[in-house]
Amino acid sequence: METRMNSFLRAATRLAAAAVAAVTLLGFEAPGAHAAELAKELFGAQKLPSLAQPHSYGFYSKGCFSGGVAIATDGPTWQAMRLSRNRRWGHPAMIKLIEKLSHDAVADGWPGLLLGDISQPRGGPMLTGHASHQIGLDADIWFTPMPNRRLTPAERENMSATSLVNEKTHLVIDKLWTPAHERLLKRAASYPEVERILVNPGIKKKLCDTVTGDRSWLRKIRPFWGHDYHFHVRIGCQPGSVGCKAQDPTPQSDGCDKSLAWWFTEEPWRPATGPQKPRARDVMTMASLPKECRAVLNEHSPQSEAAVTMGDTGGSAVATTTPEAAKPTVDVGEPPVPANAFAPTPIKRPPLPLPKPSR
Ligand SMILES: [Zn+2]
Repeated sequence: METRMNSFLRAATRLAAAAVAAVTLLGFEAPGAHAAELAKELFGAQKLPSLAQPHSYGFYSKGCFSGGVAIATDGPTWQAMRLSRNRRWGHPAMIKLIEKLSHDAVADGWPGLLLGDISQPRGGPMLTGHASHQIGLDADIWFTPMPNRRLTPAERENMSATSLVNEKTHLVIDKLWTPAHERLLKRAASYPEVERILVNPGIKKKLCDTVTGDRSWLRKIRPFWGHDYHFHVRIGCQPGSVGCKAQDPTPQSDGCDKSLAWWFTEEPWRPATGPQKPRARDVMTMASLPKECRAVLNEHSPQSEAAVTMGDTGGSAVATTTPEAAKPTVDVGEPPVPANAFAPTPIKRPPLPLPKPSR
């Protein structure tokens, strides 16, 4: 017994010494080791949010947040997709906004929202995917209308999203575009807390070419790569988030100008040449994030996911197991948005120069 204990102690001492040596060899000490660790691995491993007041720290593409809440996997007017990613978390203001949009969208005639990624439980950079979505103020929503039945967990993982944009011309595929898509984006842009909505340049162009009447909301619709099967809603820094870094305001114009025309040149799509720089999220260490993010990682978790899940059904566990709660209360019996209810976009050519008057 005595001998076994001694040999155990000797082994433990040797292990500890080896660890110290390894740490010294790599040139950092215990607290620094944390700082040099890749932030995406630490934040990507979080299962639950930090139990604290909601605060966003840093910037959309370099930060984290505390006091996160999840949106229920199911509500009467939404279903969350890709559940295995555990990215249904956001600042409470973001989650409330998604829920409100889902109700308003249904009132506008959209069958309900399919929700893509919001944030990880404590935000931060992700192991895969997005550069932003780090401070709980970004959410992706599919352009595919919610089907009139509950999708199975497997369908939510595997159902493929439909691109609305022709990848060669970068223009919207007219037979897929409907007035309901326009209404949905207009509704999302109507909320004062929404600062930007990112869409594919083809979708921005479609709106520029076809929206009549009030066009002031087009200011918030910003062209960006991707975003052809989903749109990305970004809200501003929330009151109380002192450490949240705001984005530059969008220009006052509708953006249907040469800044949009640039997207239809060859330049934005040119393949990169030369050595590729690594993505920012892949090299981001704890030291490069706001210092509060370390505390966010260390904070306690709530008791359970259900305790911090918001939405009509009152908790994701309830939503998938209680038929009463899972039943959509909104009549979505009609087929989803008609597939081809929209006239093709008129082709707009620059005005031809007038011929010189002959003498
Ligand atoms: Zn996004």
